[in-house]
Amino acid sequence: MKTTLKQYKVSDLLDGFQFNESEGRGLFGLSGKLTIQPEYQRNYIYAENNGGKERAVIDSLLKGYPLGLLYFNKTDDGRLEVLDGQQRITSIGRFVTGKFDITKADRENHSFDGLSQDEKDKIMGTELLVYECEGAESEIKQWFETINIAGVPLNQQELWNAIYSGEFVTSAKREFSNSQNSNVRKWSAYISGSANRQDFLAKALVWVCHGEGRSDSDRLVTSYMSKHRHDGDIKELENYFNSVIDWVSTLFPEVEKEMRGLEWGRLYDAYHERAYDPMKVKEAVQGLYSDPYVKNRKGIFEYILGGETDTKLLEVRVFDDATKKIVYEQQTTEAENKGISNCPLCAIGHDANAAHIYKLSEMDADHVTAWSKGGATDISNCQMLCKTHNRAKGNR
Ligand SMILES: [Zn+2]
Repeated sequence: MKTTLKQYKVSDLLDGFQFNESEGRGLFGLSGKLTIQPEYQRNYIYAENNGGKERAVIDSLLKGYPLGLLYFNKTDDGRLEVLDGQQRITSIGRFVTGKFDITKADRENHSFDGLSQDEKDKIMGTELLVYECEGAESEIKQWFETINIAGVPLNQQELWNAIYSGEFVTSAKREFSNSQNSNVRKWSAYISGSANRQDFLAKALVWVCHGEGRSDSDRLVTSYMSKHRHDGDIKELENYFNSVIDWVSTLFPEVEKEMRGLEWGRLYDAYHERAYDPMKVKEAVQGLYSDPYVKNRKGIFEYILGGETDTKLLEVRVFDDATKKIVYEQQTTEAENKGISNCPLCAIGHDANAAHIYKLSEMDADHVTAWSKGGATDISNCQMLCKTHNRAKGNR
């Protein structure tokens, strides 16, 4: 079986598009060369449930989100049939031919004709990625079942490598996608995944364009790949990647398994200009690793880099409900006997709350001695405070 990766513009795919209402299917595209929904395919279903799915397809196009791969089958007489993607193509065809409206951010309904010219151009000019396969029907059917069961055969980076293929990808893969590269073992301490599946290349790219942890990282990476597409020189990519790896391996020389897969590029960007005392860093790591109250060990490194203030990163253990209830009842009984508030901080105040009895649901558990000062998360170190006071005290 032969497969070829191609790109088609929406305007070409929809050339000659018709939707047959009685049969519930989209008919032709590519000037009649493409059969969108062959007889054996199920009917068009994206219009069901008020058309949420078909509107989502249009929304994706307008926002520039990828619609995923389409698969076409080349028949013996040279025509094409859609193997996978008929719902997506039919959605676009139905919108463009006025079969449904979308609701935009202005909350108004818009038909295709009612869109601005640049929105129309954006839809019609979108390039869709298509795998065209040629082979015996049984072969294609089997392959199609495999991709549907095992998932899409290409991951995102593999797909981008195909789209932006050229000197840059070739050179970058030689360095980052070669499992024989002697650096792979070192990289694997900090990056999860494998060279073969392009996971190191993906990291190198997202790091060099400062995209790690950002919602627009895909856009940053693809524009970097597009800009350097015909550039055989990958010095910038290599240097940046090595700077990040050198920085983390110098700062945290003891390799812990929780380091693998952290956002080291984002952390490098945020903290590499700060000076740290290696001895203190080492002690802090050891101390936190042996602390039974630290639930999230992956957060230890960022916590230390940030100056050991953001305890949320560590997910320090909290008091359980049984403990809270026991402490609440003790405090409340005592407070009622003395005629003061069951929140000890309200009780020493002089306002209207000084004698207020809170319900359990109106209070939160607090460490009397803070966790960061060595206080334990057990009943002897638990007190209930009203929510206002607990928030004011924070986890200090
Ligand atoms: Zn209070």
